[in-house]
Amino acid sequence: MSEQQSIDLEEEYGLENPVMPYLRTDRIPHIWCPGCGIGTTVNAFAHALTDSGMDLDRIAVVSGIGCTGRVAGYLNLDSFHTTHGRAIPFATGLKLANPATKVVVYSGDGDLTAIGGNHLVHAARRNMDLMVVCVNNFTYGMTGGQVAPTTPLGPTQTTMPFGNFEEPFNLPFLADACGAVYVARWTVYHVRQLAKAMKEGLQRKGFVFIEALSPCPTLYSRRNRLGDGVDQVKYYKERSVIKHGANTKEVGLGYQGDIVVGTFVDRERPTWLDAMNAHYTTVLGNRYTPYGGTDV
Ligand code: SF4
Repeated sequence: MSEQQSIDLEEEYGLENPVMPYLRTDRIPHIWCPGCGIGTTVNAFAHALTDSGMDLDRIAVVSGIGCTGRVAGYLNLDSFHTTHGRAIPFATGLKLANPATKVVVYSGDGDLTAIGGNHLVHAARRNMDLMVVCVNNFTYGMTGGQVAPTTPLGPTQTTMPFGNFEEPFNLPFLADACGAVYVARWTVYHVRQLAKAMKEGLQRKGFVFIEALSPCPTLYSRRNRLGDGVDQVKYYKERSVIKHGANTKEVGLGYQGDIVVGTFVDRERPTWLDAMNAHYTTVLGNRYTPYGGTDV
């Protein structure tokens, strides 16, 4: 929606888009294709920011490269658009330099789990105090629809013209196995649940991983004749099963199969900073001054 249309809506109907205060409107129109689900996740994130009641001056968003990587540039927060796969190490540095900041990593499945996969694994292992939102559309969108570590077995991609034969990651299981304290999966059909998970994630201490399934109608759906964005949201609606606390080993995704959604993991572990402070306090006693106070 253009700024002029937004003003007209306000003037004519007294309607104010609740998401607008969270956006850099001078950057609109955005680059996302019609029917893409990334914008819906941003809408959910904006509602999570409102509902969390957090001070926006204490939240920073970091994105990598790709269609979802553009999110950081559109949010009217302290935000950083970093290099491919490096959102998590950048966010780790940001968090450790200023532990009072809540740092959110917001990126796509290709960026976070392929080139950035190593960083994802180790940030979860360390329980770095970050919230990671992974928008998973099963493909590399911006670069033309190549096979990704999340592409289910079967569908065609530009680099898999006869269908994908590589076993994909089960992302909630990966995050769980590496030590994340909060792991959830929703789709862009589940906008309220996704916003609630993001709100809970903002309020949690430790490594939070939220997977948001989202259509890529331009590449993944078109190449596999799955219809438009609405058709994919209908699929999410029809085939999703809510199972809070599900064993993450059992929530892997097949091509156009059932989708288990919910909050799978919710547990406590010391954050990296807490563990460091506790360790050095034990080893060095009063020669050590704990760093950073309390993480947000
Ligand atoms: Fe969305 Fe796919 Fe278009 Fe990228 S290419 S903006 S993921 S629909």
